[in-house]
Amino acid sequence: MRRLGQFVFAAGMSMTLAAALVSAGESKKDDPSQIGNRDVSKGVNFYSLEKERALGRQLAQEVERQAKIIDDPLIAEYINRLGQNLARNSDAKGPFTFKVIESPEVNAFALPGGYVFVYSGLIRIADEEDELAAAMAHEIAHVAARHMTRQATKTQLANMATIPAGIFLGGWTGYAARQGAGLAIPMSFLSFARKDESEADYLGVQYLYAAGYDPTGAISIFEKMEALERRTPGTISRAFSTHPMDADRIQRTEKEIEAILPARQQYLVTTSDYAAMRQRTMAREAPQKTAPEQPTLKTAQGAKVPGAVVGGRR
Ligand SMILES: [Zn+2]
Repeated sequence: MRRLGQFVFAAGMSMTLAAALVSAGESKKDDPSQIGNRDVSKGVNFYSLEKERALGRQLAQEVERQAKIIDDPLIAEYINRLGQNLARNSDAKGPFTFKVIESPEVNAFALPGGYVFVYSGLIRIADEEDELAAAMAHEIAHVAARHMTRQATKTQLANMATIPAGIFLGGWTGYAARQGAGLAIPMSFLSFARKDESEADYLGVQYLYAAGYDPTGAISIFEKMEALERRTPGTISRAFSTHPMDADRIQRTEKEIEAILPARQQYLVTTSDYAAMRQRTMAREAPQKTAPEQPTLKTAQGAKVPGAVVGGRR
């Protein structure tokens, strides 16, 4: 009897221990002090980190051939510095590169292995540094969680290298990235699982906070996107017909900030460096204001449609 009792007790203990370990692993994702010491990329993945990076490099070269990259050193170096600071405060393991695409679209996207592209149109609507940082942190989170290669693994795309670059563009704001800048690709390939989008929001806000920024920068950039959508209805409805807008995004982020990010005495909101860089970026766009013609957006089907230049979001 006694031995049986001990056995039951021991079994009870180990089950409790197992449950505790599982919940510790899970809760690490909710604890920004554990950033860097937690694995946020768990899951089946056919791609080694090296393979993932080689793939990303190849796709990045394709993007650079197709899009106009801003090489103004003040802008390029600023964006790189901002991105590296966020990446250092993330769960991502490998190196990153950050580049600016000259395009009025409001967007940013990441390729596997740490190649992040920011559109000048995003810099335009981000009045403050924490807002741009929020969008970039979201992209870094896609890379840290290895969403692209995990997704590819899931859908058993065995030979990713033969597929056009755009397929793996994890756009922060949505389809505009793929439709603009000459990156036209089939709609059916464009969706990140909604849970991956939520996870990138969730992790990205933590990286923003860990880098010292005001995490509500994420809320204000979301709100600006929403306002843009309201002002220009119809421009993104096509995208949303296949990928419905997630109305809870702002609310979920507010709850996260409240629940898991301990309040600090002060946060970085913006800098004079940011203002100078933004001014310079907008000055490059200025000639477009006087040009009468609308920019042309390429649809996934390859048809060119005149369009207002507004990104969706996802
Ligand atoms: Zn995303």
